[in-house]
Amino acid sequence: MAILVYAESHDGQYKKAAFEAVSYAKSIADKVGDTVTAVAINAAESSDLLYKYGANKVLKVSSDALKSFSPNAYAKVLAELKDGDTIVLPSTNDAATIAPLLALKTNATLVTNLISAPTNVSPFTADRKAFSGKGIETIEVTDGAKVLTVLQNAFGLKENAVSGTEEAANVSVSDADAKVKVIKVEQNSSDKIDLKEAEIVVSAGRGMKGPENWGMIEEMANILGAATACSKPVADIHWRPHEEHVGQTGKAISPKLYIAVGISGAIQHLAGVNSSKTIVVINSDAEAPFFKSADYGIVGDAFEIVPKLNAELKKF
Ligand code: FAD
Repeated sequence: MAILVYAESHDGQYKKAAFEAVSYAKSIADKVGDTVTAVAINAAESSDLLYKYGANKVLKVSSDALKSFSPNAYAKVLAELKDGDTIVLPSTNDAATIAPLLALKTNATLVTNLISAPTNVSPFTADRKAFSGKGIETIEVTDGAKVLTVLQNAFGLKENAVSGTEEAANVSVSDADAKVKVIKVEQNSSDKIDLKEAEIVVSAGRGMKGPENWGMIEEMANILGAATACSKPVADIHWRPHEEHVGQTGKAISPKLYIAVGISGAIQHLAGVNSSKTIVVINSDAEAPFFKSADYGIVGDAFEIVPKLNAELKKF
């Protein structure tokens, strides 16, 4: 029996979230003496990258019917390749749409946004982020079959190299399984760090006064190797692109470090960033609600503080 993992890739390259999911599966496998089988759909990169995190076997799936992403077709493939009672997926946007369908197809219990290795495997007991990242829930799955998603940047990458094997998997999937077809893709700026995968995010809000002032935010992001994000109104008034909008109605992220500049910390904003490991808030209003959720806070004018911080950060 093996723990199956969906090793997500984009344009043939594995996502960091795929390695996190393999690391998580390995933490379960070690407890029960199972192996880890990673399913790589249309991935071009070497399977060595997956062995490094503990995949004993990589099943390579390539089919014209899977060239464009379809939650239903991908769920069908994973259900077909299942060889045990546990399937692990990342919590990316795509995988989050596969997971419920997969749970339905395999008659399994779905547990999302896991953040820690299980403390027990039978019954499966682990911690997950709940209530839009505001709380941590300890869950127990009493039934055997389960589909698990792992929150990005939470469990993290755990190198655990094994000598794995690779096989081409035959699956019965056709265009008719797609149900939804992607007709056109408009690529966003591709040289930027992926906001969902970023370990550090520098984010700013209406306190920046206008789009012309974002230079210092981008400078900080460049120095730190971070992605940039923004609050909803900033995207709504086109100061920043919508792909950067985080929160309840935007992207939910969980970086190791989230730096919020000139953002009030409304509950809808917090819903998307509460899972960040460390939150730093820079705001001129000492009463700004964001300070309640901050690990570190600086009360002051962003236009004075950010350039000073950038100058100091450059020294490292
Ligand atoms: P403001 O609330 O205007 O705050 C600006 C902050 O900047 C203030 O705290 C101010 O003290 C500070 N500031 C001003 N000048 C300076 C300075 N010189 N230096 C430092 N600080 C300064 N919002 C989201 O972000 N994401 C969402 O997904 C989202 N979804 C929503 C969904 C619904 C259904 C609704 C009703 C609202 C949603 N909102 C969302 C909007 C949310 O309620 C807030 O209005 C929004 O987050 C406020 O954005 P802001 O903090 O950038 O602006």
